[in-house]
Amino acid sequence: MEFPILTKARAPLKECLKGCHAMYKTVITCAVTGAETTRKDNANLPLTPEEIADAAHEAYLAGAAILHLHVRDQAGQPTQDIEVFKKTIDLIGRKCDMVIEVTTGGAVGMSLEERMLPLGLDPEMASLDCGTMNFGEDHIVNTLPMMREMASAMQRRGIRPTLECFDLSHLDAAAQLIKEGLVTPPFYYGIVLNVPSGVRYDPETLAFFVRRLPKGSFWTAIGIGGKASLQSIYGAIPLEGFLRVGLEDNVYFAKGVLAESNAQLVQRAARIAREYGCEIATPADVRKLLQLRG
Ligand code: ZN
Repeated sequence: MEFPILTKARAPLKECLKGCHAMYKTVITCAVTGAETTRKDNANLPLTPEEIADAAHEAYLAGAAILHLHVRDQAGQPTQDIEVFKKTIDLIGRKCDMVIEVTTGGAVGMSLEERMLPLGLDPEMASLDCGTMNFGEDHIVNTLPMMREMASAMQRRGIRPTLECFDLSHLDAAAQLIKEGLVTPPFYYGIVLNVPSGVRYDPETLAFFVRRLPKGSFWTAIGIGGKASLQSIYGAIPLEGFLRVGLEDNVYFAKGVLAESNAQLVQRAARIAREYGCEIATPADVRKLLQLRG
């Protein structure tokens, strides 16, 4: 499989015609592993630090600028072990300069302390779940005090949070953190739709979420499952949203056809964005856009 190489000189960043953003390019995030997906779902799922680093590098070559990172232990189970995160991030850093967004969502049943461990590595970005939600038959707890603790740890360390909102009420909880000064601009949201027993993906729902974001916010649509993942790509681009794909969110390339790799999903997202006339953001673009520590 061939991927376009992103090393050639790129056009200067553009002013958004509406003046709402200083610049607009499509940012693609790849969520290569996640906590819930297994090899039974898709045999191509990367699990070890080496496999995750290879998958991240391939995704980068295909156009992903941000890596949403979960890691697994030797048995393939989700872990927040800082050493595994460190090893994986070091391996990725030897291959490319992707922006690393570590998970603090972790996996169902993990304590807050455990979930926050990878923040100790001072990544440039981290996910911050903005409320308690159903997750199929399970649920993930994120009370406001827990969110404050995560947000203030990220603020102290200069880590840009991705405010992951799985429900409309999560936008209001995020607004509370902003009001308290625990999250400062530029604001960056992940709008997560179609989690089992969560809000369904629907173009009107996505548009409604986007209208409720603070002015000038950046956001990524995260559709869970094969259909919603593809729909959210087509749904986000006209709304100037960013894209997230990867085996964490969806293991299929098409109905009944498993994805060959994370890069295959990134390649398609990049192709769709380019066909729409968008340029694909590089990690350097993301660092500038989201004012990352670098
Ligand atoms: Zn995740």
